Amino acid sequence: MAHSEFSFHVPSLEELAEVMQKGLKDNFADVQVSVVDCPDLTKEPFTFPVKGICGKTRIAEVGGVPYLIPLVNKKKVYDLNIIAKEINLPGAFILGAGAGPFQTLGFNSEFMPVIQTESEHNPPVNGSYFAHINPADGGCLLQKYSQKHHDFGCALLANLFASEGQPGKVIEVKAKRRTGQLNFVTCMRQTLEKQYGDKPVGMGGTFIVQKGKVKAHIMPAEFSSCPLNSDEEVNKWLHFYEMNAPLVCLPVFISRDPGFDLRLEHTHFFSHHGEGGHYHYDTTPDIVEYLGYFLPAEFLYRIDQPRETHSVGRD
Ligand SMILES: [Zn+2]
Repeated sequence: MAHSEFSFHVPSLEELAEVMQKGLKDNFADVQVSVVDCPDLTKEPFTFPVKGICGKTRIAEVGGVPYLIPLVNKKKVYDLNIIAKEINLPGAFILGAGAGPFQTLGFNSEFMPVIQTESEHNPPVNGSYFAHINPADGGCLLQKYSQKHHDFGCALLANLFASEGQPGKVIEVKAKRRTGQLNFVTCMRQTLEKQYGDKPVGMGGTFIVQKGKVKAHIMPAEFSSCPLNSDEEVNKWLHFYEMNAPLVCLPVFISRDPGFDLRLEHTHFFSHHGEGGHYHYDTTPDIVEYLGYFLPAEFLYRIDQPRETHSVGRD
């Protein structure tokens, strides 16, 4: 598969913590950012197959929205074990946001990749979830992928944060009570953009929405048969929901596009109460509480970048 590589600017964790503390203060009433040891992510509520998000960090953007709209391109299917080799990190722990593997499932869905890919030493572990719409009542159906399926597929588009899955130092962000207009991820991303300008910084990790509700979407099980040519048409096609904390989110964000037609932020989430989807923003600013663990990525890999592009459907 064709890919491009780029080296991110990688500030120290101490510097990033200071920058994010200041930036988040403009948008949240109560903010505490510090450098800590990554909590054991095999524990609840994360239940990841690895303990941490440290070691050889990378961001990969695979495919893109132009493979989904205006009309789906069903040739665009991927395997995360192969993606891990493509980013020079076989055995990588990968998390993020993408489209579910319709090639296996037989329908379209929101995908929450949480995968330890295959290596010489370890068999692969698929801890991913997917969310689709219940045909009976239009509600959310969240399922663990490995319950019925044994492949490591994804499709169309994916924003991924990869690492060796090791324990180590990470940036802890606690933010409570939203006072500004920006969602949690956009606030962090714009803070980095303001600070680092034309030196792009990429970050990923995980955060929990501990209290409150979020606005989310889930794509329909069927791809649109008529072309979706505007954000308005896309929004009519998507199904929107308010979903309840606690939610485990898988954010990937980049301060500025160095010219690879990137989606600058993309966050999917799962839960242990049957809700999951694509995060837009919290709808309960007065009570919302976020707790997150993040690291900067060293490298960007742009894999199978669409040749023809557009700006529809990037929210
Ligand atoms: Zn999404």
